[in-house]
Amino acid sequence: MDVVAPPTGLFVGVALDLPMDTLFTYRVPPALAGRARLGARVRVRFRGRPTVGLVAEVTDRCALARVLDVEAFPDDEALLPADLLSLARWMARYYGCSVGEACAAMVPRGVRTRGRGAQRVRARLARDAAAADAEADALPTERNAQARVLRLLAKAPEGVPAADVLRRAKVSMSPLRTLEKAGWLTLVTEDAADDPLVEATRAPVAPEPPPQHLSPAQAQAVAAVGAAVEAGTFSPFLLLGVTGSGKTEVYLRAIEACRARGRQAIVLVPEIALTPQTVRRFRARNDRVAVLHSAMTEADRAAAWRAIRAGEADVVIGPRSAVFAPVPRLGLLVLDEEHETSFKQQNSPRYHARDTGLVRAREAGAVVVLGSATPSLESWRNAKEGKLSLLRLPDRVASRPLPPVRVVDLRRDHERRGSGLHLSRTLVDRMKTALAAGGQVILFLNRRGYSTSVACPRCGWVMRCPHCDVSVTYHKSGTLGVCHLCGHERRPPSVCPDCAFPALRYQGVGTQTVEQELAHTFPGVAIARMDSDTMTDREAYEDVLGRFARGEVKVLLGTQMIAKGLHFPDVTLVGVVSADTSLQVPDFRAAERTFSLLEQVAGRTGRSDAGGEVVVQTLLPEAPAVRLATEHAYEAFAERELAERETFGYPPFRRLLRILFRGKDPVAVTARGTAVVEQIAAAAVPGVEWLGPATPPVARVQGFFRRHVLVKAQTPAGIRRVLDVLRALEPAGKGVDEQWDVDPVGML
Ligand code: ADP
Ligand code: ZN
Ligand code: ZN
Repeated sequence: MDVVAPPTGLFVGVALDLPMDTLFTYRVPPALAGRARLGARVRVRFRGRPTVGLVAEVTDRCALARVLDVEAFPDDEALLPADLLSLARWMARYYGCSVGEACAAMVPRGVRTRGRGAQRVRARLARDAAAADAEADALPTERNAQARVLRLLAKAPEGVPAADVLRRAKVSMSPLRTLEKAGWLTLVTEDAADDPLVEATRAPVAPEPPPQHLSPAQAQAVAAVGAAVEAGTFSPFLLLGVTGSGKTEVYLRAIEACRARGRQAIVLVPEIALTPQTVRRFRARNDRVAVLHSAMTEADRAAAWRAIRAGEADVVIGPRSAVFAPVPRLGLLVLDEEHETSFKQQNSPRYHARDTGLVRAREAGAVVVLGSATPSLESWRNAKEGKLSLLRLPDRVASRPLPPVRVVDLRRDHERRGSGLHLSRTLVDRMKTALAAGGQVILFLNRRGYSTSVACPRCGWVMRCPHCDVSVTYHKSGTLGVCHLCGHERRPPSVCPDCAFPALRYQGVGTQTVEQELAHTFPGVAIARMDSDTMTDREAYEDVLGRFARGEVKVLLGTQMIAKGLHFPDVTLVGVVSADTSLQVPDFRAAERTFSLLEQVAGRTGRSDAGGEVVVQTLLPEAPAVRLATEHAYEAFAERELAERETFGYPPFRRLLRILFRGKDPVAVTARGTAVVEQIAAAAVPGVEWLGPATPPVARVQGFFRRHVLVKAQTPAGIRRVLDVLRALEPAGKGVDEQWDVDPVGML
């Protein structure tokens, strides 16, 4: 098979699903020349093993002395359309990933490999729950992964889909297999035709006529976006619309204009907002809706992907990965809640759906609508500079006012006597009034668990995760200390391990603490808690929301899970138990996140004629994010925050690249960081500065030490040149893992 140098003929650059930057060159035997297409699947040998890749380049030049032949092109047509292929190359350049990784993110595995997967595996306990809990307690620390699986399954008699077990218990498949062998659980294969999201695209929905009158602002936005869709050229918009201003109606009309021109629309929503209700809302106007998301079974996803590729859907709804939906003629891309950090992928390729979507739309000549009540500062600045056309929906529909926001200063003594520890007098009073009038209440707290920490009041010992550099959170239901980073669970000791003091203190506040306090203060009132501890799967989530919608639950308490998108007309009070949890995160975006969160939460009330109000509890009432949120003053906040960012040299005034190093040996990790910094320094790229190697706020996770380097550049070109420097370096040695994150959204 090997060809003697110099090879001539036709060659393909093949993208393999490997974390390597390069394309791999193979020769196309003359007999196959007619089948070598860009974006087609190709079967080759890599390191002696047969593997399937995608053709990312077709050329008649080959710089190598020897190449292998392509074995086959299994399909008659290209799998990846040309526009996505060129997007993959842009991603590789911009984010420093490989073309193959980018392609892999675009095509579901079930399509790439033609694998089967109409079924999914469910894990179910084979013995009784009490025995499993006892076993979990008895397992040694190094088998904590198994213990977590056992505890999770002990709470779910009907079993849990294996994919959910992996995600929620933060384990790989191997502890499940071990437990199966030991007779603790069974793994049953079942048909998975019941994905509620897939169902929502099939079940009949009553068509819903559009509202008869648009508000003047809506009409203006619809006209502007509609004209752009008509023109069929790249035009990006920022739709700044307060909560309840009817942004979705603008999307729906734009989708209609797009369909009328024979083009397709993609609607990206934050992970948390992708619910059957969302899908139904779009289907009530247009029947040809498809969903794409990563939790679907491979078979469902592959089927949806092929249907979309064949042009059978007018609208594709999904989380960030749906930006790659293979619609034949993209006409419109909507990002709802464009400020949401879930649009950024946290593992390679670390793309942001907003920027990637803008690039795709520019190539396709499509319209982009970025919608939010609290746009990211990146988008806000782009709008101010004219890169995005700004559309404003300043008022809620039906002239409903935005809810008044009352700030409760928790430092004042009399407020502390509300109900116990965490609900102030004002909040309790307002809750009583709201409930007495037949209203519902949403209480928001961005921290799950019972207490934030377990500490010794005498010597200051704090219970920490043995693998990560963080204190653990105590969860009452399991009476366990849980590490929120790695999921490690352990019972707190009964006495202080350092000084033997017998009365450890449980301090701080979590959703479970507040739930108890509520039960005590509001006896007989139906309360539901919604956080990732109680929401074991999508069905549980739907169930609680259903009970709240029917009024069976009066008070809904939850984490950010409940901050977004929910529409319950009877909610007349929203309480924020503590605005401080998000303000105090060591991240330059802490204020932006807090403002946005407060605004979103406030958006859950006052959505009907019953009105609504918001109570925000805080120890930091002067913080601008809190103060300006009470006035719903996004623009004032954004201006103020932009000035700070400019002063301190942060995005959107600088581009960031975060290089994270991880390893078991802290010396090797730091050494690699230092070596990388030396190379960046030697390259002396103009307009580029760097910090580090430094210790990130979380210095250790799952037993791995972490260091990071933060590169700041004046322009994207500066970051690109630093990536070139990194690519030219010898890869990090064994034992040190290195990640490049361009435009990072988190710094922990
Ligand atoms: P946003 O996404 O801006 O928070 P929504 O799109 O959820 O707001 O709209 C809030 C509510 O107002 C929805 O129930 C929607 O059906 C309704 N609505 C939107 N536009 C109009 C309109 N022009 N007339 C009457 N009701 C409308
Ligand atoms: Zn102690
Ligand atoms: Zn941990």
